[in-house]
Amino acid sequence: MSGSRAAGLSGRHTDVIIIGAGVLGCFLARSLRRYDLSVRVLEMADDVCTGISRGGSGIIYAGYDMKPGTRKARMTTEACIAFPELCRTLSVRYRNTGSLVVSFGENADRSLTDKLERGKKNGVPGLRLLSRRETLAMEPLLSPAVSGALYAPGTCTVDPWELGIAAYENALANGAEFVFKRNAEHVQRTSEGFTVTASGQEYGCRILVNCAGTAAGNVHELVSDPSVRIQTAAADYIVLEDDAGPAVSHVIFHETEDGSKGLTLIPTAHGNMMIGQTEREMNGPGNPTDSGGIARLQELCREVVPGLPADQILRTFAVSRPNPYTVMRSGDTWVPAGKSHFDFSILEEDGFFSLIGIKTPGLTCSNALAEDLTGRILAALGEVAENPDFDPVRKPPVTVHVLSAEERNALIRKDPAYGRIVCMCRDISEGEIRDAVRRGARSLSGIKYRTGAMMGNCQGSRCMQRIMDLLL
Ligand SMILES: Cc1cc2nc3c(=O)[nH]c(=O)nc-3n(C[C@H](O)[C@H](O)[C@H](O)COP(=O)(O)OP(=O)(O)OC[C@H]3O[C@@H](n4cnc5c(N)ncnc54)[C@H](O)[C@@H]3O)c2cc1C
Repeated sequence: MSGSRAAGLSGRHTDVIIIGAGVLGCFLARSLRRYDLSVRVLEMADDVCTGISRGGSGIIYAGYDMKPGTRKARMTTEACIAFPELCRTLSVRYRNTGSLVVSFGENADRSLTDKLERGKKNGVPGLRLLSRRETLAMEPLLSPAVSGALYAPGTCTVDPWELGIAAYENALANGAEFVFKRNAEHVQRTSEGFTVTASGQEYGCRILVNCAGTAAGNVHELVSDPSVRIQTAAADYIVLEDDAGPAVSHVIFHETEDGSKGLTLIPTAHGNMMIGQTEREMNGPGNPTDSGGIARLQELCREVVPGLPADQILRTFAVSRPNPYTVMRSGDTWVPAGKSHFDFSILEEDGFFSLIGIKTPGLTCSNALAEDLTGRILAALGEVAENPDFDPVRKPPVTVHVLSAEERNALIRKDPAYGRIVCMCRDISEGEIRDAVRRGARSLSGIKYRTGAMMGNCQGSRCMQRIMDLLL
């Protein structure tokens, strides 16, 4: 298999090539197809969203944390307000949980007041400080030692990969081309733009965009010496069992007294609880979960939310964090010239655009960043017509367990595969697994992230073999 899922493009030259099909690459491909531009995405993996966009907290931030006046503050606030509409357009599940930043002492109380002021300047709607009594009324599982909270009603949660897959499917439906198993390893500037060599194949383009996540520094070096480089750190998370018992209903951010990394409690879009996240050095190839970090998260849970069953662990996972630094040369090496960048780093040089180390809240701002980049690309290209056929709406995939009994029966009459349940934990049918394969899943994890099968309490031990048979 070439790995290409082309949609009507011919030849090897396109207007734009995007390297990397994470959530940013997928949203950018979709956004560019609003215009009369041919777009090709080269991705080294066999699917979309296999990098940072697969993990993370899945929180859509309200925007009170960011320094007023920055691009990040503006984008985050606007993106959070626009998020429900984006999810409706793309048929993506989300939960408008709201969030509480909780404090347990004077230092953290002051920090909450600062965040309130910042949030007001950033235009975040509905922010307010809550008393201890109001906080406990909203979240009775919190420790009675809580002193108060900052409430942000707009905060949402989403499964990050679901958002990325939706953007991919809509970009594909609108004519973007995605070529998988293509590792961009060489770039040459030409009179027409660029030639990218990826896994031995050559692809030409006028505009080249680097959306390579943690590898964005390396990809930038294929074109020029980057002034910004990524140092990778890591984060650990706990996912609780589906039926773990009492849970919080808001995203809870724990503001610590000493400014150290606190706890984040996330009621996920599909209904269970996630506990995050540590901040640590990478611990070798594959970056396995750090057991000490997991124990620390559980210990913090016992202090902050003693009623939460933090020992009912379904699974743990670790994610890489890309921290972008401005660098300078020191002999043969590059050294950081200051602190890790706070704002989004978008580098631009003569038809080449680089998103380097887009960290939190890159998921929240994925569509906004894509629209921002689209504007820059249009400016670089000169006059470009709109695409009159662009349709922003994505048809929702069939999800049997949300249907009424009548709808379910009607569907099963049409196709009995929707009546054969494969994943008992999450109630996923054979029909949905087959749909996932038609929608682009090439592996067990492709099916898992498209349907939710194998994500329940048995983690696939009862259904994996049957799903493998359906994949063949
Ligand atoms: C621990 C953690 C928690 C986070 N939580 C949140 C949150 O709650 N809310 C929020 O808004 N944001 C959050 N973020 C930020 C958000 O997840 C990221 O900003 C976003 O996912 C970045 O997407 P991306 O497309 O840049 O990267 P990726 O998803 O990593 O995609 C990059 C892609 O490029 C491909 N690639 C790399 N090199 C090459 C090459 N040479 N050729 C071809 N393909 C290549 C990779 O295979 C990969 O698919 C979090 C980030 C971290 C690390």
